[in-house]
Amino acid sequence: MSVLTQLTPGAVWSYFEEICKIPRLSKNEGKIRQYLLEFAANNKLESREDKVGNILLIRPPSPGMENRKCVVLQSHMDMVGEKNADHPHDWLKDPIITYLEDGWVTAKGTTLGADDGIGIAAQLAILTDTELKTGRIECLFTVDEESGMTGALNLDPGFFKGRILINLDSEDEGILYIGCAGGMDTVAVIKHQAVAADKGSDALLISVTGLRGGHSGDEIHKGFGNSVKIMSRILLSLTNLYGIDLNRFDGGNLRNAIPREAFATIIVDNSLTENILKWIDGFRVTIHDELGDLEPDLKISVTDVSVPGTIIERESQVKLLNALNCCPHGVIAWSKEVEDLVETSTNLASVKFLEDNTIRIVTTQRSSLESSKHYAAAMVESCMILAGAEVVHSDGYPGWKPNLQSEILKITKNTYLQLFGKEPLVKAIHAGLECGLIYEKVRGIDMISIGPTIRGAHTPEEKIEIATAQMFWDLLTEVLGNIPETGKK
Ligand SMILES: [Zn+2]
Repeated sequence: MSVLTQLTPGAVWSYFEEICKIPRLSKNEGKIRQYLLEFAANNKLESREDKVGNILLIRPPSPGMENRKCVVLQSHMDMVGEKNADHPHDWLKDPIITYLEDGWVTAKGTTLGADDGIGIAAQLAILTDTELKTGRIECLFTVDEESGMTGALNLDPGFFKGRILINLDSEDEGILYIGCAGGMDTVAVIKHQAVAADKGSDALLISVTGLRGGHSGDEIHKGFGNSVKIMSRILLSLTNLYGIDLNRFDGGNLRNAIPREAFATIIVDNSLTENILKWIDGFRVTIHDELGDLEPDLKISVTDVSVPGTIIERESQVKLLNALNCCPHGVIAWSKEVEDLVETSTNLASVKFLEDNTIRIVTTQRSSLESSKHYAAAMVESCMILAGAEVVHSDGYPGWKPNLQSEILKITKNTYLQLFGKEPLVKAIHAGLECGLIYEKVRGIDMISIGPTIRGAHTPEEKIEIATAQMFWDLLTEVLGNIPETGKK
């Protein structure tokens, strides 16, 4: 049953509802790509697809508007798939179930995909709006933004003509974004020996759950709990105090999400089990005191499990836990020029026990300064090297430096003021937008990023504020109408 049809702007929400039915995790964009190409064919629009799967759909200029500068509208077609562990959802085939709550649209148990489904929906609404009068509009839909930006990274600058680009992937109505941070991944791999567990012991499964998580860029400064850090602290303390053995430790999921859950199985001498449980009771109080109201739903639970066959040998356990305890997480520096802008940060995103006695630790670094991004990555690397890990860095992506003289900024600011009677804020963002990569390829392209208000992106709490979708639509369509002719300012 349709739940979004009564919302406005009608076309945007009805396309959004359609998109919610299409599975589109990063690197699994086949179905949404097919949908977009069929959409172009059904609406007799020119379409292009490049070798990595990016798609361009073209709205021809309205009669009399042929001389207007061409504008590229850009969104990404993939989404982050995060769900609560107890919520069944097959990301390759199940639709996202939306519902309305207090003026917001959200999803049952999963990410909503308004990041960036609402951008896609706005593009489709513009491509089919017969009332709108605009110059040539090129709608660019990139693949794989969320897991490496390989779509933007492999974009051919000749794929589109426009030299003004409006990115539809930011999440704050009332804020115009004119810059973003660059980012990179640092991945550590630790090899260990498995040894037989002592059969006369107890085995306990410790779970850290209920944290808020959040986007590792936009929300890194909020001080939310990190399940991997909390679990490392528990395990290292129990190792030092009670000599526990570790069977496995898995926490976190996606590289660009602050980890919300972690699980570890430990083996303990059964004469110490009671003391260990008491220590955990005490720690629960400590951590609630530290995080306070920021993490009201944090849960640390312990259950008895059957004793597993193996543990990791003590030396690797100690090195692993010390490395995770020492590994930086959170804000490293604030911008000296732009107020309230995080300059450099790092996210300890996940730890996974894999086959072949291998432990994989994934971290991501962001900064508006290239050199600081590399320095943050080097700090993480140092920690991991001390633990005997092998460390690799991804190439990463560059930031997008603000241009306060930008024409599209001026147009968007003026249009906003006329429409809503107030000045919008103009900011840079501590997150990656594809704009940094696009700018590297198309030097001089004039860009801005706008969007409706989305909260909790990359978590099952993701939601979009309904009223701001209308404002986003009004701003976008007015701006498109206000684009000057070529050669004019
Ligand atoms: Zn996005």
